Amino acid sequence: MAIKKRSHSFTIARRIVQFGMLLLFAAPLLVVGAGLFGIPSGGEKIDTTASMLPFFGSLSSSSILGITLLDPFAVLQEAAAAKTFTLGWLIGLLPILLFYGLIRGRTFCGWSCPVNLLLEAIDWLRAKFNLKVVEHALPRHTKLWVAVGVLVLSAITSKLVFEMFNPISAINKGILFGSITGLVTLLAIVVLELFWAHRIWCRALCPLGGFYEAVGSVGLLSVKMDYDACTHCGHCSAVCLADPEILDPVLNGSKKRVVAGDCMLCGECVDVCPTKALSIGFASPFPK
Ligand code: SF4
Ligand code: SF4
Repeated sequence: MAIKKRSHSFTIARRIVQFGMLLLFAAPLLVVGAGLFGIPSGGEKIDTTASMLPFFGSLSSSSILGITLLDPFAVLQEAAAAKTFTLGWLIGLLPILLFYGLIRGRTFCGWSCPVNLLLEAIDWLRAKFNLKVVEHALPRHTKLWVAVGVLVLSAITSKLVFEMFNPISAINKGILFGSITGLVTLLAIVVLELFWAHRIWCRALCPLGGFYEAVGSVGLLSVKMDYDACTHCGHCSAVCLADPEILDPVLNGSKKRVVAGDCMLCGECVDVCPTKALSIGFASPFPK
């Protein structure tokens, strides 16, 4: 039975950000007249290209007012593949790393990643049609090792290994260039969701999630717990997008805040808690 939420504040805020991000990356091509499938409108010559606009790019690499922003994990793959590291890469990745590092690493997953949006839609459909999934869960830290494996393979093959099947790039390429090849990756993730385990990609397999889990060990914002207000109903664990076990330390009273680098700050636990025992706020950036 679906758990009734006390509030929808965080879900609404996240949907605005998630759809806003999708629109942001689609807007440049729409502005210059190229459609979602990369076909110039009316076959006319395009005088302005998307790359000439103030914002252009994808979650892997973008340009704002001429400043290049780079996905830190893509840069690590590039560095491993090329066996070199440039100052330009460092300048490009630092704003992104600092932004998510200061808030909390996996905020990227909960608020920016389009794959999470897709998987939440699948969750919603599954609940609506009462579709059960056989759960063959993997330990949540598996994705850390997948991330390490991707970097090692990038070094061995001199190729950006994750970028070959990265579903986020797939969505971005679909929006920007009309490419449908990445749909295979997305389809594979949906199949995993339906026949392997609930949220298996985000929880245990995505190497980008593994990278941001490592970054998320520190951060200024956390889910905080008022232990006296908790009735131990378990609703927060049931709706957690990351992994129910990350709430265990606050539920058993051994921690006052969720310390796991896996927390996406999605706020689903806060929205569902009937007694307002949970909140998101500033806390010491280092786990105690
Ligand atoms: S924190 Fe809230 S939702 Fe979680 S067990 Fe306690 S009362 Fe229930
Ligand atoms: S602990 Fe709460 S905020 Fe963190 S991922 Fe789970 S549901 Fe989201």
